[in-house]
Amino acid sequence: MAVPISQAWTVASYVMKQKLSGRKRYPLVLMLEPLFRCNLACAGCGKIQYPAHILKAELSPEECFRAVEECGTPMVAIPGGEPLLHPKMPEIVAGLVERKKYVYMCTNALLLKEKLHLFKPSKFLSFSVHVDGQREHHDFSVCREGGYDVAMDGVRAAVAAGFRVTTNTTLFDGADPNSVRLHFDELMEVGVESMMVSPGYTYDKAPDQKHFLGRARSKKLFRSILSNRKKSWRFNASPMFMEFLMGKKELTCTPWGMPTFSIFGWQKPCYLLQDGYADTFQELMEQVEWANYGTESGNPRCANCMVHSGYEASGVNYTFGSLKGLLQTAKAIFFSSYNDEGANKLLNEWEPAHQAPLVQIATPAAATQKEHARAEMVSGD
Ligand code: SF4
Repeated sequence: MAVPISQAWTVASYVMKQKLSGRKRYPLVLMLEPLFRCNLACAGCGKIQYPAHILKAELSPEECFRAVEECGTPMVAIPGGEPLLHPKMPEIVAGLVERKKYVYMCTNALLLKEKLHLFKPSKFLSFSVHVDGQREHHDFSVCREGGYDVAMDGVRAAVAAGFRVTTNTTLFDGADPNSVRLHFDELMEVGVESMMVSPGYTYDKAPDQKHFLGRARSKKLFRSILSNRKKSWRFNASPMFMEFLMGKKELTCTPWGMPTFSIFGWQKPCYLLQDGYADTFQELMEQVEWANYGTESGNPRCANCMVHSGYEASGVNYTFGSLKGLLQTAKAIFFSSYNDEGANKLLNEWEPAHQAPLVQIATPAAATQKEHARAEMVSGD
């Protein structure tokens, strides 16, 4: 199983309850960002470019618990920044586990081995380790030579200590599908529970704007990677989202499916765009003009987006939306390895598109005045 049965059951019954109550828009996973500080400066991520006083600010455990209770999701992902840099992360995680939330603590794993003793293995806790590919590709992606070896060391230590360990892989333009498939083999061999994979998105603040995937190229890449699937591979993503990535299914974005709470408040409308903040979850749901977002809205910032945080909840919603959705999902889980000769051809034809040196972030982008003010309130400066 890609997730424990108790988790699958909790999520399925939560979604069914939302459907039966007639709730049109419901959140599935809270994206809890307790800090933006990081010990990496990846070219594809803009978070680290906030000014120093914002990077210094962090949410307290109480603020985290309040956010979780406000939105009521059965799952909580903790991205960042690097959550292991938050001095109260063990307390935050323990409090979420106590509330029976399924927690995915995202980490680059540079500190995982040394901080492992601060956490207790639980079916509610999974370390979601960011590994963008095989050694060379990951080091390029995170702009840190040796980053892959440290991360994999952390993965092995966590698996050996009895923790649930999953991975998340973001793919950018130029990714070698053959190498990604070998990467999946490596992850399964070290005992990872399951893997999540998503195309990258162009952050306004990210310094490397050239290497993000457009929609058509994304579908081609994911078709070549995810077709002719090996039996040993386990994925931590809804089967319908994965078919969407492969170009086999159309889904519309559900930006409310993974609401984001950070030191600035509830982010409008999604994990990627920052069109302001709401003070409460209810205000977020009421204030956002949802029709202005998603690819079909014509919003140019959504035109190429196929990311997990926008479409995973769409996949889950599709599954539970009809008998057809349930049957298609069951077929995908139990009977389909997606045999596809054309995809094999794509693998054989792949050629490197670019070779560029590692890009290090140099120039911090300016935050808005409102962002400064909120961060100052949180950091107490
Ligand atoms: S399409 Fe992407 S960028 Fe647009 S609202 Fe959805 S998740 Fe956000």
